[in-house]
Amino acid sequence: MKRDTEIHMKGGVITERNADFCTVRTRIPAGIVTLEQVRGIAKIMKRYGKDMVHLTTRQTIEIPHVDPKVLPKLAADLEKNGTPIGSERDEVVNIVACPGLERCVFANIDSGNIAKMIDKRLFGKEMPVKVRISISGCPNGCTSPMLNEIGISGRVDPLRTPGLCTGCGSCVMYCREEAISIKNGISVLNEDLCISCGTCVRSCPFDLLKSRGVRYLITVGGRRGRHPHIGRELISLSDPEEVAIVVEKVVTWIYRKAWSGRHLYEQMDELQFEQFKTEITSKVTAARDTT
Ligand code: SF4
Ligand code: SF4
Ligand code: SF4
Repeated sequence: MKRDTEIHMKGGVITERNADFCTVRTRIPAGIVTLEQVRGIAKIMKRYGKDMVHLTTRQTIEIPHVDPKVLPKLAADLEKNGTPIGSERDEVVNIVACPGLERCVFANIDSGNIAKMIDKRLFGKEMPVKVRISISGCPNGCTSPMLNEIGISGRVDPLRTPGLCTGCGSCVMYCREEAISIKNGISVLNEDLCISCGTCVRSCPFDLLKSRGVRYLITVGGRRGRHPHIGRELISLSDPEEVAIVVEKVVTWIYRKAWSGRHLYEQMDELQFEQFKTEITSKVTAARDTT
């Protein structure tokens, strides 16, 4: 069993204002906990913490007011519960995701499963900078993917079947971007205004609006906090496995190139993000050509 100091030195254990105590953060990809895990955490907090827990902005549960001496036992119990000690330092921290296709009517992608796939590959990897990854099922961006170091957002581009539109105006009414209008009795799309939410595709009562296919838009270099920053677009992909592979490539690129002590968004030009983007795009294209 690891010693309490060894555990304290790792991410996920945060010294409190009263330095005699620490808060222990858990690893819960996409914020999904089972009934048994909730019961387990209730027992663990009663045994080692106070009679409360805290829900973090990164969808984890943290147990406050823990005596560092009990950390080895607490760590073992959390591991057994399937909610091990998490991370919060310069690492790949808890992967955040919205409910996605599992529950949300606006969703274009299965956010939770992608979060779990990425968590398996990358959670806790020590990095020169903190890497937050967030997934949203549509451009509504409930988990603010563009304000994370790596963001993934589900998009659907509409395509109207030529000549069949009745001009009923349903899609016009549902499009919140005013990207569709009726001209000469048929709907016309303004692609400059469209943000690819896919709502119009689901709104056509005659099923005349088709999807060009779901795509996963990956952004890099976003930042929340005191100097918020929007991430830059890297690539759009159509396959979740490919998304996990490309996200791993982004993490490797950050690991190899980024400077510690500065946020990723501050270094994007120095790290030659545009060149990296070109390389990723050509690798993905070449891989597709060989399959
Ligand atoms: S981001 Fe979109 S899919 Fe996800 S919860 Fe929000 S509205 Fe639903
Ligand atoms: S995909 Fe969304 S933004 Fe684009 S036209 Fe349809 S409803 Fe409007
Ligand atoms: S909802 Fe369908 S039928 Fe009605 S205007 Fe739009 S594309 Fe045409």
